[in-house]
Amino acid sequence: MTNSPESHLLSRVPSSPSIAAAQRARDLKAAGHDIVSVTIGEPDFPTPARVIEAAFQAAKDGETRYTPVNGTLSLRTAIAHKFLTENHLEYSPDTEIVVATGAKQIIYGALTATLNPGDEVIIVAPYWVSYPSIALMSGALPVIVQALPEHGMVPTAEQLEQAITPRTRWLILNYPNNPSGAMASREQYEAIAQVLGRHPQILVLSDEIYEHIRYDGAEFISFAAVSTAMKERSLIVNGVSKAYGMTGWRIGYAGGPSSVIKAISKLQSHTTGGTSAISQAAAAAALAMGPALPLERSTVYQRRRNLVCDRLSSCLSLRVLRPSGAFYVFVEILDSAPLAGRAVDEVLLDHGVAVIPGEAFGLPGWFRISIATSDSELEKACTRILEAFQG
Ligand code: PLP
Repeated sequence: MTNSPESHLLSRVPSSPSIAAAQRARDLKAAGHDIVSVTIGEPDFPTPARVIEAAFQAAKDGETRYTPVNGTLSLRTAIAHKFLTENHLEYSPDTEIVVATGAKQIIYGALTATLNPGDEVIIVAPYWVSYPSIALMSGALPVIVQALPEHGMVPTAEQLEQAITPRTRWLILNYPNNPSGAMASREQYEAIAQVLGRHPQILVLSDEIYEHIRYDGAEFISFAAVSTAMKERSLIVNGVSKAYGMTGWRIGYAGGPSSVIKAISKLQSHTTGGTSAISQAAAAAALAMGPALPLERSTVYQRRRNLVCDRLSSCLSLRVLRPSGAFYVFVEILDSAPLAGRAVDEVLLDHGVAVIPGEAFGLPGWFRISIATSDSELEKACTRILEAFQG
């Protein structure tokens, strides 16, 4: 038996099931198996040329040194402008905005900098795999609220009220949602805000990283735009990874109350320090392009969404949730399906297609398909999924 070097906190955290599924598909492919992988949540579009040019220029201009812990002033100014023009939110670049090494780092920073052992974080399932793990690593307890298809995958006021205790410190929201693709309406957010009005100790982390990837003209509203009272207690998390095809540049950012921003910066000052100067110059160039490019790319994702949803909807064993945003299709395996109860990722792998099982998102009995891949790969994936479920 080996002694694990992991701390008590880390040993409570499961390894990422989505990374494991993606790696397994890669290994099988490398061993010569014919596998279509629809696991990865990463845009298949390149970083725009003008962004790469800005990074190159920054490096040539000597922007190669340590940066301020909360981000360069030029990027924070670009972020403040983005929030103001796209979301009608006013934040001071000096005190209410922070830049980090990806949205993931912002979320880690926010929870770690503010939570104490025994505090509770309300997370809505299906959820992005990292939220419960980050809460656990912060010493807190994740409290899961199950969103339901009949409520548009957004928690109701009653569900939220039931989950709140005196130990609740954060509520995490994520719309457009990974994995369900659901978006929240102003009315749904207002219902949540009404509950929060009765519990002033709770902060809201709204992860809006898929803001620009949305379909059929769906309207996006930031949670902080619901009311001034909500803005004062919300951390709005965003980044350039998904919108501008910049996952490898590692830039995420947030706008929020100065006390929370200060706490995140303090943590960063002893961990990552200010993130890469060159990446920050690139991110500022991306934000200067505005939302036109990601919205244009959404039309391609929309075509792929239609392809996948239309093909899989013909299968009586499956219920396909038609996403309004993000680049995933989330599928339920109906109880009547011949394969119900078996590990879906295993079954589908036997048929040559790798997906992420719903367990990873807190919703067993479902699976996620990433549509951030070519039409031909998606066609092949659908054919294999239909074969698996139709026999
Ligand atoms: N939030 C959600 C909902 C995501 O799906 C992801 C990436 O998969 C992230 C945050 C992380 O984004 P970043 O690349 O900026 O760390």
